[in-house]
Amino acid sequence: MPKSKSQTKPARKAKPRRPPHAQTAAQIVEQLQLPAVRRQMTRLRTWFRKHGRDLPWRRTRDPYHVLVSELMLQQTQVSRVIDYYDRWLTRFPTLHDVARARPAHVREAWEGLGYYARARNLQKLARTVAPNGEPNHAIPDSPEALQALPGVGAYTAGAVASFAYEKRAPLVDTNVARVLLRLYAPEYSPKSGVGQRVAWALALAVLPRTGKAAWTHNQAIMELGALVCTARVKACGRCPLARDCKSFEL
Ligand code: SF4
Repeated sequence: MPKSKSQTKPARKAKPRRPPHAQTAAQIVEQLQLPAVRRQMTRLRTWFRKHGRDLPWRRTRDPYHVLVSELMLQQTQVSRVIDYYDRWLTRFPTLHDVARARPAHVREAWEGLGYYARARNLQKLARTVAPNGEPNHAIPDSPEALQALPGVGAYTAGAVASFAYEKRAPLVDTNVARVLLRLYAPEYSPKSGVGQRVAWALALAVLPRTGKAAWTHNQAIMELGALVCTARVKACGRCPLARDCKSFEL
């Protein structure tokens, strides 16, 4: 009697599971040569002090002002935000002013910037944090507490913690992800989920030791992504990280 298929065919071996992406990110971080990374990041900060733009939100540490700038800058160009930022702060100088404003007035001040959910969330946040005249510093300083507030994602939480409170907090936006992945892990796309996880792991790994230096570092890496290592052009010839970059091109 012929054997049935199930008798002749050896049982299929289970495929080995792909390592979880968190492990991939950890492996990439493990391969970093930290002394060399520290030297690179020092060069980056020196470059920023010389070439970084003087933007109004870089002159303040007020957490409400920083938050307003970060929300406005989402999906919007810097040149466009500058006017709106100044006008907004003239109309609503404190977080409490936003909390007690009529929603129609909040929307009116945001008119033209688009993505109105940002303005609605800012008012919700203000009403959560400063319902009774609390100062702007009532905005929390830890990324975890910030992320619990309306409309605050991982990037914005890191930005407020770093740029307002000078906490040693990582942050990843499209510019930071692009620069870090080109620099250390060009096989990953910043648009993929795994690329994002690798970028966050790298952003934490390359942070300088102090919160004050982390402020400059985070500003610098974003500025490099905006001015030198852009989505369209890699200006490697004038990049302070060119010496050790895995995507260097001339
Ligand atoms: S060397 Fe080129 S690719 Fe690398 S970070 Fe600088 S500009 Fe980007």
